[in-house]
Amino acid sequence: MSNTIVIGAQWGDEGKGKIVDLLTDRADVVVRAQGGNNAGHTVINDGHQYILHLIPSGILWPEKLCVIGNGVVMDPVAILKEIDGLVEDGIEISPKNLSISDRAHLVMPFHREMDAFKEANRAVKIGTTKRGIGPAYGDKIDRIGFRLHELVSGSASFVERLHSRIEECNRLFETVGMAPIDATAAEEELLAAGRRLAPYCADTVAILHREMKAGRMLLFEGAQGTFLDVDQGTYPYVTSSNTTSGGACTGSGVPPHRIDRVVGVTKAYTTRVGEGPFPTQDDALADRFHGMGREFGATTGRKRRCGWLDLVLVRYAAMVNGFTELAITILDGLDDCAEIPICSHYELDGKKLTLPPASIHDLQRVVPVYESLPGWQCDLSQVKRWEDLPPQAHAYLARIETETETPVAMVGVGPSREQTIVR
Ligand code: GDP
Repeated sequence: MSNTIVIGAQWGDEGKGKIVDLLTDRADVVVRAQGGNNAGHTVINDGHQYILHLIPSGILWPEKLCVIGNGVVMDPVAILKEIDGLVEDGIEISPKNLSISDRAHLVMPFHREMDAFKEANRAVKIGTTKRGIGPAYGDKIDRIGFRLHELVSGSASFVERLHSRIEECNRLFETVGMAPIDATAAEEELLAAGRRLAPYCADTVAILHREMKAGRMLLFEGAQGTFLDVDQGTYPYVTSSNTTSGGACTGSGVPPHRIDRVVGVTKAYTTRVGEGPFPTQDDALADRFHGMGREFGATTGRKRRCGWLDLVLVRYAAMVNGFTELAITILDGLDDCAEIPICSHYELDGKKLTLPPASIHDLQRVVPVYESLPGWQCDLSQVKRWEDLPPQAHAYLARIETETETPVAMVGVGPSREQTIVR
């Protein structure tokens, strides 16, 4: 019996979806504890590709319970669309296998508009997905947010507060010529969504503790990645939640001492979507991946920036998350490389840095120091066992283990569930 958190060790898109899907086999409950529908997981199941935004990927397993915890911000209309899409694809979804925290904050129509308004007015663009996630978390911290239990109640005080907040936002939007939000239409749409979501709305803290008491295993599906964490990431080019392992506890009501394993997921190289510093970025590598049709965002379709594996980042991620093991994904992405550069540390103003600096200006200036490892130059996609990996791949993985002081437990050699080598 072990409760496990899966966390991205980079800037998201590490392939967590597939690792979560694999670990779900042994889990009873799959939990999302932070983020919103700005995240996108790709899971390939029985040859069908599913892209999940808010709903835990455990939903593809009919007998598992999926929980959306209090730390998530949820767009009521978007989640219903996601549910409907999955149901159309033949996935069974009901309150029996999906519970949503009554304490989860809502992403409202004015939050989406506020995202556009703020990004347009920001001197430094942080590249948000404009789904209202940041403004919804902002309102939560500002203590003016709306939670699911209020929407579901459909109370007069909820409606009154909604209208007054929309009026307030409309006054702001007017100043820059943005179209106002129709408060009556928003109210109708939201209340209708609330009625449909009511059966799913529950005290998920009580549910999770009940499940643990019954000896069931929890699997936490981290969204985004460590360097998008609002505290530990490359601030301000971050998301608005704690994407690191601590966020799984605060976002679910499960205490830290109940966590047994923390699996860090990292690609065998590095990618990043949107703005922000990226020391090992390599445009030739990006061109190669894009030419092969790889590395386009699952949610946004945007081209991901690509670079070599940055062990300074993975080392830091291992520290702050307490990784008990690493899952290295897309090792097959490096199949045709003759030499593979790997960044072990940075240099900044003549000093050696083994951990990332706080200042993004410094992170932009660091010089990554590479070691070059020989490539395996063969197709890994059919390799099933650890011992059948070529010696060069073993050497590459061993280097990662030494530098991060974390054992590699899983290796991805292709997008499907079967293409994962468990050591
Ligand atoms: P997530 O948000 O961390 O789940 O990552 P994404 O789903 O956005 O991105 C991972 C992408 O890589 C998806 O298209 C996966 O199907 C794919 N993928 C995951 N693991 C592997 C792997 O080991 N090899 C290959 N070639 N693709 C993989």
